[in-house]
Amino acid sequence: MKYDVIIVGAGILGSTIAYLASENGLKVAVLEKEEEAGLHSTYRNTGVVHRPFYLNPESRKASALAASRSYDFLKEFVNDNGLYWNQLGTLEVATDSASIKKIRDYENWAIKNGMKESEFQVLDKKDICKIEPNVKGELAFLSKTDTVVNFKQISEKMIETARAKGASIFYGCDTKKISGEGVVSCLLNGTEKKFSGASIVVVAGGETFNFAVMNGLSGYAQLHFRGDYWKLSDVKGMLFKRNIYTVPRFPNFPFLDPHIIKRHTGGTEIGPNAFLVPGPYDYEGTVSKILKNVLGTGEGPFSIKAKLFMNSEFMKMVFADWKISLFKSSMIRKVSEFATGITKDDAIGKGISGIRHNIINKQGFISEPFFYVNGRTFFVLNYNSPGATGSPWYASVILLLLLKKGILDTAYSNLILSNDNEILSVKTIS
Ligand SMILES: Cc1cc2nc3c(=O)[nH]c(=O)nc-3n(C[C@H](O)[C@H](O)[C@H](O)COP(=O)(O)OP(=O)(O)OC[C@H]3O[C@@H](n4cnc5c(N)ncnc54)[C@H](O)[C@@H]3O)c2cc1C
Repeated sequence: MKYDVIIVGAGILGSTIAYLASENGLKVAVLEKEEEAGLHSTYRNTGVVHRPFYLNPESRKASALAASRSYDFLKEFVNDNGLYWNQLGTLEVATDSASIKKIRDYENWAIKNGMKESEFQVLDKKDICKIEPNVKGELAFLSKTDTVVNFKQISEKMIETARAKGASIFYGCDTKKISGEGVVSCLLNGTEKKFSGASIVVVAGGETFNFAVMNGLSGYAQLHFRGDYWKLSDVKGMLFKRNIYTVPRFPNFPFLDPHIIKRHTGGTEIGPNAFLVPGPYDYEGTVSKILKNVLGTGEGPFSIKAKLFMNSEFMKMVFADWKISLFKSSMIRKVSEFATGITKDDAIGKGISGIRHNIINKQGFISEPFFYVNGRTFFVLNYNSPGATGSPWYASVILLLLLKKGILDTAYSNLILSNDNEILSVKTIS
């Protein structure tokens, strides 16, 4: 059978593409190597639908658009299907004078990125104390519409709905080879199976990079950064009413600092850090990983990674985040910069770690997701935070691009969330 779209990977992005494409009458196949949808980054993340106040509208234009356009869609989908949605907000605090300026930037960026004035407030020291007595900061940005969700649950529902609309979902289908001519080979229950389609979209998380390289991508490398979390005791968790973030320490790198987060399970956790690990599935292990890291990490030529490894600010971040993973006391010390009343004994166990897959070139980190296109095949790379939030917009951009390139010819309904102008904000290389 020939499909219109073959999607490799059923994380939140693959699931959303499957949902939008099948709602629009396309013949869809989803190939997922696990036995269920959303088991990797989609499950192992912080679970926040981010509002775009912290995204620079110029350097992070696509992510800001994605977060802004996707919010109402996600809210409606979650409400229509009775899924988890807890709009409890995020407080991002500045603890020093350098970060205060960032809070002022956030006010401008929030408006530029389409947030309504009623959605946010800037709070001084006294007001911070009023709404969060256990948080200390000089100034803070309160985003009232940041929302806690369960992205795995959303992903599963998208797949279920796509299947009801006729999409074929193949679990246990470990893709091994992808061609630019629309053919995918995978191992399904130990037997090789070939699928052919008018188009292929590869959204396989940390594995997408290797498939893209097999299809001719060059000049890039990939590094993996694990985010570890600690569970807070219920008594201490109750001290905080919403997510508490701080202005990031290392603004040149694409990571947020460890924060206090409210989970859809009802618990409170602290994390994540950015612990450099060798591979896309290194969810566990510490000291042995560090030793392996020294010898080689991630994928792609070392010549591309060399400049980053010689950057003292980057190495400072790497060591600081290794320490946070190795020693509970380091994580507590970090969080105590903005939260009072938490001691080592209040961190009662590890949470579920997740891994970001960052693409770099010789100049360093690439800040935004981008597409590599080979013939009929699209590879989505560098798809990191706030990727789960922005998945409806990115899914829509991919379908529109397939349409514009003449690969697909279906007349789309209003499920498309982006327009011809907006799709230009995502870098596409071929
Ligand atoms: C620690 C952490 C915290 C984050 N917090 C947030 C947050 O609060 N809010 C937010 O919006 N974003 C957040 N993100 C980012 C967000 O989680 C990701 O951008 C998003 O989940 C990526 O979705 P995906 O579908 O591309 O990848 P994944 O969810 O990783 O899905 C990829 C899928 O491809 C499958 N696959 C891989 N290889 C193959 C193969 N060979 N054959 C078949 N299938 C394959 C995998 O099994 C998997 O199901 C966070 C990420 C991390 C790591």
